[in-house]
Amino acid sequence: MKKHFELSDDRSLSSREEVRRLQDRLLAEQIRYCRNNSPFYREKLAAFPDRDHDFDTLQDLPTTSKRDLAEHNEAFFAVPPSGIADICFTSGTTGNPCRIVYTASDLDRLAYNDACGYRASGMEAGEKVLLTCTIDRCFIAGLAYYQGVVKFGASAIRNGLNTLESHAEVIRTLRPENIVGVPSFLAKLGQYLADAGIDGSCVKRLICIGEPIRTRKMALTPLGEKLERFWPGAAHSTYASSEIVTSFTECSVRCGGHPPAELAVVEILDDEGRRVPDGEPGEVTVTPLQVTGMPLVRFRTGDVSFIIPEPCPCGRGTLRLGPVLGRKAQMLKVRGTTLFPGAFFNVLDGIPGVVEYYMEVGGTALSDEITIFVACAEGATPETLGVAEKLYGRTRIHVPVIAVDASEARRRVFGTSRKPVRFFDLRKNAL
Ligand SMILES: [Zn+2]
Repeated sequence: MKKHFELSDDRSLSSREEVRRLQDRLLAEQIRYCRNNSPFYREKLAAFPDRDHDFDTLQDLPTTSKRDLAEHNEAFFAVPPSGIADICFTSGTTGNPCRIVYTASDLDRLAYNDACGYRASGMEAGEKVLLTCTIDRCFIAGLAYYQGVVKFGASAIRNGLNTLESHAEVIRTLRPENIVGVPSFLAKLGQYLADAGIDGSCVKRLICIGEPIRTRKMALTPLGEKLERFWPGAAHSTYASSEIVTSFTECSVRCGGHPPAELAVVEILDDEGRRVPDGEPGEVTVTPLQVTGMPLVRFRTGDVSFIIPEPCPCGRGTLRLGPVLGRKAQMLKVRGTTLFPGAFFNVLDGIPGVVEYYMEVGGTALSDEITIFVACAEGATPETLGVAEKLYGRTRIHVPVIAVDASEARRRVFGTSRKPVRFFDLRKNAL
């Protein structure tokens, strides 16, 4: 297994066929590594012939779920304790924390991954990158973004989870060309700069993490539009998770995120675990390549997205992943239509008089029943704002809209977790 990753190794600009050949070779190596070193896969793959797997035969192997990770956590560790360089926790499906471990080689691989992403985004060595995300608190992506800056040859400004005022001061004095952060926070930062009369035009690129900024049709969501009002043409979306040890970053074309060629094989699967044609949504399933600490085979992320079929004008032969449309567990089925809460939330985000909202879903196995609760600005009501009509206009589904007062809505949305929760699943058999 490789121990060092250099930016010059990146083969993403090869043709699709060359990328495929490279991935097939690395995939065969990775599956064999799993058989030899991961107790979980040693057992799980014992019934399958030991052969050189490629993209086609990968389909013969079983998928791995978050539940597998939670239930057999330690059996996934493919190195002895002395080989583990970093330990993270995810909340897991069972509520018990689930450990994800990384070797020094995995951390280097992550840095390489983000360095490739920065290069794809159009960033240049010598530029400055303001990091508004934490690099501690077991947030592996934050560490990877930081180490990626170093590997790429840019300068990191680790201002982290600091105040708007503090970030504005960094922008005023250090003039960074790039910011890494959560889009809703960056939109607040843009507004703060505008209100304070601080020139933020030095910022050419926003590397957006954690929240989608594009719709199914690759148009900007209201949140994405807000960002682009402050920084036109700057927003690049990304997708990553701590389990897949891989991030997908939008190149300068800004239409779907590329993983580096030699780091991941991606499949999009339907409910029965079959591959769907490119362009169709399904569950993002990733086999990370060249991972040594906690390698995974066909890991089902629970996120629903799609592969953009057309070759990317940037020349990369790697696939492009669209925005995450939602969590598989949050999929809504209403009278034969399948959609995600985000389709409603995007509309609500775009109505200026709506100050807070959440959704409850109940119903039977046949059809979900959606109710939207909306808190409006002083003097407005859901009726005067036309909330139900606007939701119908975008989703073609009539849903009841109930007015609630802002403090009640905030209690519900911010009551259970530090992150806002706007989706409440009251369905029977809800995951
Ligand atoms: Zn591209």
